[in-house]
Amino acid sequence: MSPRGDPSVPISPLEEWTARRLGVDRLTREEVGRWQLERLREVVGWARERSPYYRRLYESLPDGAPAGFDRIALLPLLDNSVVRERGQELVCVSLSDISRVVTMPTSGSTGAPKRLYFTTDDLRLTADHFRHGMRALVGPGDRLVVLMPGQTPGSVGALLRDGLGQDGVDVHSYGFVDDCADVAACIVGFEATALVGVPGQVVRLARSAAGRRAGKGRIRNVLLSGDHVTPAMRAAIEDAWDCRVFEHYGSTEIGLGGAVQCRAHAGLHVREADLLFEVVDPVTGRPLPDGSEGELVVTTLTRRGMPMIRLRTGDLVRMAAEPCPCGSVLRSIGTVVGRMGERLPLKGGGTPTVADLDEAVFGVDAVMGFVATLEADADDPAAAPGAGDRLTVKVELRSEEPVPAREAAAADVAGRVATIPAVRSSGLQVRVEESAEAADVAPSAKQRIVDRRGT
Ligand SMILES: [Zn+2]
Repeated sequence: MSPRGDPSVPISPLEEWTARRLGVDRLTREEVGRWQLERLREVVGWARERSPYYRRLYESLPDGAPAGFDRIALLPLLDNSVVRERGQELVCVSLSDISRVVTMPTSGSTGAPKRLYFTTDDLRLTADHFRHGMRALVGPGDRLVVLMPGQTPGSVGALLRDGLGQDGVDVHSYGFVDDCADVAACIVGFEATALVGVPGQVVRLARSAAGRRAGKGRIRNVLLSGDHVTPAMRAAIEDAWDCRVFEHYGSTEIGLGGAVQCRAHAGLHVREADLLFEVVDPVTGRPLPDGSEGELVVTTLTRRGMPMIRLRTGDLVRMAAEPCPCGSVLRSIGTVVGRMGERLPLKGGGTPTVADLDEAVFGVDAVMGFVATLEADADDPAAAPGAGDRLTVKVELRSEEPVPAREAAAADVAGRVATIPAVRSSGLQVRVEESAEAADVAPSAKQRIVDRRGT
């Protein structure tokens, strides 16, 4: 074992929780590996016995497989389309044992909505993960406002309340941010010391006049989840409130809680007692060495209602090649670099990501939010390859800025977007407009880019 890293950084609170889950005094990589392999075999056996889909998928798999992680490729990757179209065939318990069904909105115009099934135990483990992971941010006496839904049992807000309530942290679920002044009033009224929210929405709140005032000197820690966080987005929040920003990775598919930063603010420590993370080549599906960018594949090791075995998440990440400075043996991933489906292939050959645009646009202080629309230049059908795509960025700017400052900010945004390497090399025309209507400006990455170029 290597000695503890930086002694000034407290070890990830997930370390102690994971050790307890594994029944060991001191966590080692060997113990984690042994536990994960045993749980993997167990969940594969459970799934093939009880789920019609997995039974067919593993028909020719030897009993007790895989023998080791080097044989994990025997288990085919699970595509998200299977979860959407045949989700019920993945369920391993009778519906009377399911305590929560989450219906996900459809992204396309056709097809049934995706449904995800959880047992009481599945949800309890997530609440427990939230409770321990959040100890890097909050402790007894802290007051947390969750800017995500929390009314339904088993929702993010409810699970945070269940988990953190046991540690003397008061939790209030506000829901998603729409009216920044109203959220600001809630932060002041509740005397919040910490926030959990979606990155783009928290940036918008932190840059609004009311939100900035409400959080300054009050909000000490912020956890961002549900989307990528670029350096400019992180800086926007830290600068507004003089607070610490932590990142969390999770999705409903993998059971909401996945990986979270410790006070080293380096990688996001994986919830390894419950989840196996792999990074694979998105084209070949082969595992990649630590440090290489690829698609995150997740196996839920302990979930019983609807286990996900080698689920392709579509998220592009790197597994950290170096141990975290906090000294934890838990593995960590870097921030999500982007989503596979969210790359924008331009006529000129470049493929900027939504994160590239976020970094450029939020790099301008006056920007609260934006929506970018990509269109083909219909006026010029004979345009040479590399010409013809046009990007219109509608930005919501801080209303208290005088007109000349807003005009300069819009020009600054145009300049920054135009110099994204993939944009510059593609000859994309960029236009920036100020949007008077806050409602025009969508907060989530999925909604920030509208591709109207047809097929
Ligand atoms: Zn750490």
